[in-house]
Amino acid sequence: MFQDVSVEVTPRAEPEIDSQWRAMRVPREVAALDGTVDTPLRYGHGRGYVGAYSFEGSFRRGGLRRPLTCVFVTAAPKTLPLIYLDVDGPLIPFGLEPSHYPSFEPSPRDDENPLLARLDPAHGSRLRALPGELVWATTWQHDANDSLSPRLGLPRLPVVDWPEPSDSDEFDARIGLHWKTRPLLDHAQGRPFAWIDDEISGIDRDWVSGLHAGPALLYRVDPRRGLTGDDYRELDAWLWEPRHS
Ligand SMILES: [Mg+2]
Repeated sequence: MFQDVSVEVTPRAEPEIDSQWRAMRVPREVAALDGTVDTPLRYGHGRGYVGAYSFEGSFRRGGLRRPLTCVFVTAAPKTLPLIYLDVDGPLIPFGLEPSHYPSFEPSPRDDENPLLARLDPAHGSRLRALPGELVWATTWQHDANDSLSPRLGLPRLPVVDWPEPSDSDEFDARIGLHWKTRPLLDHAQGRPFAWIDDEISGIDRDWVSGLHAGPALLYRVDPRRGLTGDDYRELDAWLWEPRHS
């Protein structure tokens, strides 16, 4: 339910011309207007939420009230969720017999990690389709942009730089908090985020839900298989939910 909604009427020269070169008459005075939200708000049409609103009402022209029906589509720019992306596990699977994993082209160069052969380039288009800002959150750090981004057809992405060891590391290890969890919260600064990793535990989820102001999805991936179609569908559904304002 939206309350305190105001409608601003912008004066325009007549005749206004529509996209098919038809002249449109602009009502001088809107007598009544009732709006109905016809569609749920969704991400789309660029970077923002979009919903359609139809209005039934009437306006006065020549002393007569005439019916008026129009549809507004609005796109309000919102901050997209961040998508923190681990590499080993989600994108480069491990843990089964090596023969289980197909090898993809291009073959890793001699100076590259041989496990890059397990990187399925099809992840690129699926990652690109997720409605969020991809950020490398991996021990590969900036090497991810040199070795993975080109194979996936992705642009160079922002990278989370991990902090130097600190006094809290021992405490974190004792309670089972992942070493990435604190730095990711620092990086997110309250923005909504999804974190895709194979090492997430309930401790990390509890920590984030207690200290992070915005919505967060800590999404654990089975490292033996890496990201699957089901994983992408779940991530996509969460990222599309219109709660990231
Ligand atoms: Mg990993």
